[in-house]
Amino acid sequence: MDHDELNLWAKRAADWVRDYHAGLRARPVRARVKPGEVAARLPAAAPEAPEPMERIFADFEAIVPGASTHWQHPRFFAYFPANAAPASMLAEQLATGMAVQAMLWQTSPAATEIEQVMIRWLAGALGLPARFSGTIHDTATTATLSAVLTMRERALGWEGVQKGLSGGPVLRLYCSDQVHSSVDKAARLSGIGQDNLVKVETDETLSMTPHALEAAIAADKAAGRVPAGVILSVGGTAVGGSDRLAPLIEVARRHGLPTHVDAAWAGSAMICPEFRPMWEGVEGADSIVFNPHKWLGAQFDCAVQFLADPGPQIRTMGLRPDYLQTPGQEEIVNFNEWTVPLGRRFRALKLWFVLRAYGLEGLRARIRNHVAWAQEAARAVAALPGFEIVTGPVLSLFTFRYRNDAATEALLARINDDGRIYLTQTTHRGQFVIRVQVGQFDCSREDVMTIPQVLAELTGAG
Ligand SMILES: *Cc1c(COP(=O)(O)O)cnc(C)c1O
Repeated sequence: MDHDELNLWAKRAADWVRDYHAGLRARPVRARVKPGEVAARLPAAAPEAPEPMERIFADFEAIVPGASTHWQHPRFFAYFPANAAPASMLAEQLATGMAVQAMLWQTSPAATEIEQVMIRWLAGALGLPARFSGTIHDTATTATLSAVLTMRERALGWEGVQKGLSGGPVLRLYCSDQVHSSVDKAARLSGIGQDNLVKVETDETLSMTPHALEAAIAADKAAGRVPAGVILSVGGTAVGGSDRLAPLIEVARRHGLPTHVDAAWAGSAMICPEFRPMWEGVEGADSIVFNPHKWLGAQFDCAVQFLADPGPQIRTMGLRPDYLQTPGQEEIVNFNEWTVPLGRRFRALKLWFVLRAYGLEGLRARIRNHVAWAQEAARAVAALPGFEIVTGPVLSLFTFRYRNDAATEALLARINDDGRIYLTQTTHRGQFVIRVQVGQFDCSREDVMTIPQVLAELTGAG
């Protein structure tokens, strides 16, 4: 394939994408395939001879869409959204077409400087002080790992990166029992260890209490262990559990501990000033992550990490071997020194396109609609016989149950086999509950109100 042929096929792909999106409501949301079905349709080995694009494209159409779960379906209410606004898709095509590496300023001046400006734009949009800088990672998991590695090195006086961890002190991290598993992964991968991630008990509002955090830190210090940092949750994945940031950051600060706020999902909603009480005190954090690739419309992958001071993270992650020096330009930003990988995609381009194409007002209007419709749907579910709202709505996330654990689990299977909507489960305080989140970029009120309608039909209440 050459670039003339690419041009023809790119146009055909654009037509295909338009039709795919226009036809989504007619498809079941969740894939209807069994494990192994797709692999069985592919040859066992790569072809020796080139194949015509016509045949490759035909196989794509025959095999892929029918065996996919449709994340851009307007009735996708599972997990969290992975929104891809059309303006984001266009930017991704351009970034793909240029295929630059955004590792050094010199290798990508436009990518580096647009990334810096997007961090400033987003800090302003979320109501964060202008002193925050930051960077774009692939995922919140990587951002949290970066923050935890930095916590480790601060606690060790940067001896860990130099000498290794053997013989060092036992480091301790603190978080609530509502954090995402990426925090557990960061504790494991950083060498701090799962057993040294202290899950502080939460109160009835699903926040750690300052008293419990204080007690956990004091007990570790008394036992000769070394506290390294506190990870705070804003809009936890299971049911939206959030810590009260201001008093908890105050406890961390009193002990000289850095803080990292995981607002991967809820962060996007902070473009609306009325939701900001949810993370009151966030300006005191050292590190904050949120995923524009969830609710804002800049498609996967795009995780923004704000940093009060990038110095400690650069000291932990940054290396400048001779072949990565930029002679005469010591003051420029080389973002690979802020992140785990060396090579980096030009992710800021889709943020630039999305923020301009919809404007903050357009993005706020969508999020406000999602929150209002989630509340309306929750009221309608609560009114159905046998149904009970268990948590929320927190922003646009709520959980419910139907009669008991077994009936709820059986109902979830029937909902997803039905295919009009897609929901997933979690457990809360020992009970099996079904999660509903509203957040697909172009869903309508009617799409959302399909939820109570399907529940009523499937339980004979309709
Ligand atoms: C989704 C989510 C994550 C993980 O996001 P990735 O970008 O996929 O790593 C982390 N924390 C919270 C609260 C989330 O909702």
